[in-house]
Amino acid sequence: MRRWESVLHLGEGSTPLHAAPRTASWLGLSKLLVKRESLNPTGSFKARGMAVAVSRAMELGAKHVVVPSAGNAGGALAAYAAAAGVRATVVMPADAPEANQVEVLIAGADLLLLDGLISDCGRLGRLISEETGAFDLSTLKEPYRIEGKKTMGFELAEQLEWRLPDAIVYPTGGGTGLIGMWKAFDELQAMGLVGEQRPRMFAVQAEGCAPIVRAFREGSQFATEWEDAKTSAAGLRVPAAVGDFLILDSLRKSGGGAVAVPEVEILATQKRLGSLGLGYPSLETAAATAGLKALVDAGLIGSSESCVMFDTGAGSPVRGRVASPSR
Ligand SMILES: *Cc1c(COP(=O)(O)O)cnc(C)c1O
Repeated sequence: MRRWESVLHLGEGSTPLHAAPRTASWLGLSKLLVKRESLNPTGSFKARGMAVAVSRAMELGAKHVVVPSAGNAGGALAAYAAAAGVRATVVMPADAPEANQVEVLIAGADLLLLDGLISDCGRLGRLISEETGAFDLSTLKEPYRIEGKKTMGFELAEQLEWRLPDAIVYPTGGGTGLIGMWKAFDELQAMGLVGEQRPRMFAVQAEGCAPIVRAFREGSQFATEWEDAKTSAAGLRVPAAVGDFLILDSLRKSGGGAVAVPEVEILATQKRLGSLGLGYPSLETAAATAGLKALVDAGLIGSSESCVMFDTGAGSPVRGRVASPSR
C-alpha cells in the first residue's frame, strides 16, 4: 500500500546542469556540463537515495533505521530520519569528515565511530540491525536508495531534451550513482524516451583505493577487496563494493572505462576548480575532474564530445588542512 503522507521531501533533486566554460577550457574540452549534486540538501546526491529509502521504510513501519557510512550517506540519513521523526543510528569510521559527524549529531541521530573502514562499519551496522530490529539501509542491501539515485539519470535525460551525452564521468565508491543511472537509461528506453545508444560511463577512483579500476583492467567480473584503502576523498574510500559486478558491467557495456587519480592531483584539482568558479567542491568532485583530465589527455574523451561530469558533493574542511597546496 502507498501512503503519500510518508513521503519525505527536503528539496532533493532537480539539480542544475551547468555549463562550466572555464573548467572546460582548462580540461581541453569545447564544452563541459556539470551536474550540481552538491546543491542537494545535506550537500550531496546521497539525499536522493535517503529520501526514497527513509520514506519507504516509514511506509513499511520501521521505528529505527541504521546505516554504515563514509560520511555523506550518514548525514543524509540523519536528516531524513529527523524529518520523519524516527530514530537513526549512523556508523562511521572515526576519521570520517568532521562536517558529516557534526551534521549527524545536529540532526539528533546516534553516531558510532569505529576505528576502521566502511566495511567494518557495515559489519557493526548489521549486528545492530539483528540485535535491535533496526532497518538496515546499507548500500544495495535494500532496493530503495538506488531508486532514488536513479533520478539523476532521469533528470539528465530530461535536461538534455532526451539526448544522452557521449560520456559521463562519475567519482565512484560504492557505485550506486553509476548503477542507478544505468538502470534509469534502460527504463527510459523501455518508455520510448531514449534510444539504445548509451553514454560511455567512466568511473574515477583514488589511487589509494581503486578496486574497480583494477578489476576493469584485469577484465574481471568482480573486484577483489582493496587492502589498506587510503584517500582523503571519503566517499571514494570503499575497499569492496557490493555492486562491483554491476558497476563493471555498465562500464564495459557502455564502452567507457575506469581511471585512478593520485592523491596530490585530487587536492590540487579541488583548489583549481574553486578558482575556475565551481565554488567549494568536494574532494570527490575534484577526483572526478582530475580523472576527466586524464581521460581527455589520453584521448579517451574527445575535445568536441558532449560530456557530463558529476559534482557529487559539496566541500568541507579536512582536519589539519585549511587549503590544498596550489600548483
Ligand atoms: C558517496 C559519494 C560518492 C561515491 O558515490 P557512489 O555512487 O557510492 O559510488 C562520490 N561523491 C560523494 C560526494 C559521495 O558522497
